[in-house]
Amino acid sequence: MEKKIVMSGMRPTGSSHIGHWEGALKSWVELQKKHQCYYSIVDWHALTTEYHDSKNIKGNIKELLLDWLSVGIDPEKSIVYLQSSIKEITELFMIFSMITPLGWLERVPTFKEQKIQLNDRDLNTFGFLGYPLLQTIDIIIVRGNIVPVGEDQVFHLELAREIVRKFNNFYGEYFDEPMEFLTPIPKLPGIDGRKMSKSYNNTICISDKAETIEKKIKPMITDTRRKRRTDPGVPEDCPVFALHQSFSSKEEIREISYACRKASIGCIDCKKVLIKNMNDFLDPFRERREKYEKLSVMDILEKGNKKARETAKRTLEEVRELVKI
Ligand code: SF4
Repeated sequence: MEKKIVMSGMRPTGSSHIGHWEGALKSWVELQKKHQCYYSIVDWHALTTEYHDSKNIKGNIKELLLDWLSVGIDPEKSIVYLQSSIKEITELFMIFSMITPLGWLERVPTFKEQKIQLNDRDLNTFGFLGYPLLQTIDIIIVRGNIVPVGEDQVFHLELAREIVRKFNNFYGEYFDEPMEFLTPIPKLPGIDGRKMSKSYNNTICISDKAETIEKKIKPMITDTRRKRRTDPGVPEDCPVFALHQSFSSKEEIREISYACRKASIGCIDCKKVLIKNMNDFLDPFRERREKYEKLSVMDILEKGNKKARETAKRTLEEVRELVKI
């Protein structure tokens, strides 16, 4: 594959969990080996839904940056930057807001879904309606043509392509239509067995220490059939087993599956295997994090901001020429 420009982002709304690793960061680390990647901490996006309680957004920026660096996002290869430090994004957003039909934004499925889910706040705002356009601008301002997204975000990419097409029709073929790079939808359960999510407070974080992992896994519910050690279980009905799928070897998974059905392994021992494997997996992240914690990571971000800003400036100047403004 020829070298492409990859763009993606995450909101600084709290510590990243292992679902973020599975669903996004793992692909980001791979993509930076072959392509020029732009990874943005999208704090304006956080504001679209957290505007009523924005005090934590700033503090979360450094944490998110450390999460990324710890999993192996390499600032020498990838451009890591803060969305709100690139003011050119707002100008391009404004220009594009002139040509983006309201109906296109209103039909975005997440617009209605999120309004129902987050019903403790008023999301009838201009910013919330416009956030898929802001996402489009994030991508095209750095001339991104590959966007790693989960299946659930494909609609946003289709919308981005429609908006780009509209611009190109008016002002000349300038922007590439960005294409999705499908990332796996993580199937990891949280420690309470529900979907792993920050809002359920059931996450296993990338930055968790070994003792925290132990504290979280030990009390996890297992297959309810295993009331006693001698009761056989069905591993497919156990969230601990679901986590084994991501952190244990094929052989261990096979052995546990057999032993659980025969009641020849207890849940405590089964969890011990998981805790060890998870910690072995997270150890290199912890080492890298420790290294970066000793450095001034905000300087790394500032360097990335500078590079992203240069690209954004260039794009905006060329757009102004095309729009004749
Ligand atoms: S042995 Fe393991 S897989 Fe089986 S129920 Fe217990 S924790 Fe779950």
